[in-house]
Amino acid sequence: MVAEKMKPYLKNNSAIRMMFEEGNRLKALYGPENVFDFSLGNPSVPAPDSVRKAIIDLVNETEPTVIHGYMSNAGFEDVRQTIAESLNRRFGTAFSAKNLIMTVGAASGLNVILKTVLNPGEEVIVFAPYFLEYGAYVRNYDGVLVEVSPDTETFQPNLEELAGKINKNTRAVIVNTPHNPTGVVYSEETIRRLAAILEEKQKEYNSVIYLISDEPYRELAYDGVEVPYLTKYYNNTVVGYSYSKSLSLPGERIGYLVIPDEVDGAEDVISAATIANRISGAVNAPSLIQKVIARCVDEQTDVAAYDRNRKALYEGLTSLGFTCVKPEGAFYLFVKSPVPNEKEFIEAGKKYNILMVPGSSFACPGYVRLAYCVSYDTIIHSLPQFKKLAEEFF
Ligand code: PLP
Repeated sequence: MVAEKMKPYLKNNSAIRMMFEEGNRLKALYGPENVFDFSLGNPSVPAPDSVRKAIIDLVNETEPTVIHGYMSNAGFEDVRQTIAESLNRRFGTAFSAKNLIMTVGAASGLNVILKTVLNPGEEVIVFAPYFLEYGAYVRNYDGVLVEVSPDTETFQPNLEELAGKINKNTRAVIVNTPHNPTGVVYSEETIRRLAAILEEKQKEYNSVIYLISDEPYRELAYDGVEVPYLTKYYNNTVVGYSYSKSLSLPGERIGYLVIPDEVDGAEDVISAATIANRISGAVNAPSLIQKVIARCVDEQTDVAAYDRNRKALYEGLTSLGFTCVKPEGAFYLFVKSPVPNEKEFIEAGKKYNILMVPGSSFACPGYVRLAYCVSYDTIIHSLPQFKKLAEEFF
């Protein structure tokens, strides 16, 4: 028998997954080249050759008991040190191996840090639209998710509303930049204002409020836009990073947490997070891919390929009359639905074999998300279909 806590999840099984299955059904019916599936954030660019080569070399070169064995629950020390040094070179930080915990992707990293800092009943604030899994992660530790409503003009976080929602029970604020589903990058000005609010509220309530920076899209930024490194603006920042998108390795489940020395009670938080990694059941992040990351630490995915898609889809859709903020990062476009109920619009799209995800799956109805991590051909061939769809509404 299924536990009570799981029952709501059975009911609301993710719309994104359902869309994925619908995509497979349509592809089987019409052929994959005739289906324009913008539903899933699965990278279309393959992992760099150097990653594939490192996997083969490591398997051949390394003592099996080392490469496949148990290790410290935080991950291989040499891997953590290599990543720390890479971050220090890029962002002028001063991390070392002890500040990093290798995790089973960003999803696991978020769970580890929430398990580490959250007491039952404490609140975690998120900005709509947001990755809906945050709600499940917070509930895993009996926390309470508090939503800040969207600023639909810019999709930058609504900081006035944030300030009003912080209280003595607030334990963390989660931000995600570059952002899923809008592609917005939070500006340095926004980050400074956010940090000032959190500092002020910590003083007011004599409490610790963690800023959790969920960063699977850090490397996907366009037009030379800077993605500020948040630990430099606010001491109680914990970074959750992932290689799922930055090296196209979502199935390998690899990422890390950064817990800087400046975090309140850092030593205990690092120790507790290391234990949380173990007792979450992950034990440690997968060993082989950790070593691969150390060899490929400064590798980049093909950002130019996503950029080409971004421009083609953004220009194509806006010239048809659709509106959306121009994304500066990630690989998503968040388009305003021409009718208030975006699900009607999505149903209409299916007639033209276009698959989109409702904004309500990100707590922001009235919009749809298009994941443009697809082939360039898919984008180009989808535009005449979008034209037919637009003609139904404009
Ligand atoms: N956070 C956001 C905003 C995401 O979009 C995703 C995945 O799409 C994740 C976290 C989870 O990433 P990972 O595959 O590293 O667990």
